[in-house]
Amino acid sequence: MEKRKINIAIDGHSSAGKSTMAKSLAKELNFVYVDTGAMYRAAALFCIKERLVETNEIDSSKVEVALDRMYVGFKYNPKSERTEIHLGGVNVADEVRSMEVSRKVSLVAAIPAVRHKLVDLQQRMAENGGVVMDGRDIGTVVIPHAEVKFFITADPEIRAGRRLKEIQLTQPDCQLNEVLNNILERDRIDSNRSASPLRQAKDAIVLDNSHLSQDEQLAFLLTHVRKAMAGA
Ligand code: C5P
Repeated sequence: MEKRKINIAIDGHSSAGKSTMAKSLAKELNFVYVDTGAMYRAAALFCIKERLVETNEIDSSKVEVALDRMYVGFKYNPKSERTEIHLGGVNVADEVRSMEVSRKVSLVAAIPAVRHKLVDLQQRMAENGGVVMDGRDIGTVVIPHAEVKFFITADPEIRAGRRLKEIQLTQPDCQLNEVLNNILERDRIDSNRSASPLRQAKDAIVLDNSHLSQDEQLAFLLTHVRKAMAGA
């Protein structure tokens, strides 16, 4: 009988490079990558489109009622060779990366009913193993029994600089300060919300990648993963 594949949980601060590392790991191991941040971003886009979040205020009881109409899922796109996030059957992979969504997403992600719905989906994706999942509560709430857990972080200024480079490809007027403030604000809300706040799991392996190349990071992660696979 084939051995059940392990699950890998990656949590950490905003724009710390979690998804880049999770994608590389998944490719290397032939595992499925699940970007839970994209799911919360799709939920935020849903709230924006439904006019449930106008300023910095959100009516969580209205969001709760509307959630029955929210369909979030992933679909593989053979053209781009990417698994892309869909909202109501529409590909929103680019739209969810806008600064407007980035500004609203942590408010939406703090609503317990939103988390409940998305965590349920995430747990089903991980139930057969072979998943690399990144987010904020993966090792603590979504798959607390994951065989390997990482917590990735870096200096805020370094994270903002890296994120700015990505954003400027599509939004050339975006400024470093705007990105840095958004990252710090999301970290603040994510760490202080009462519904599954961003926490480092007790058994997580910490990686501060402020001064590491992507190859160095991947080598670090793979060493730990291979050790866990040998013992699984
Ligand atoms: O990972 P990314 O930065 O795209 O996530 C966007 C936002 O979604 C985070 O700032 C956080 O508010 C929320 N999130 C979350 N729990 C997760 C993943 C993301 O609350 N597991």
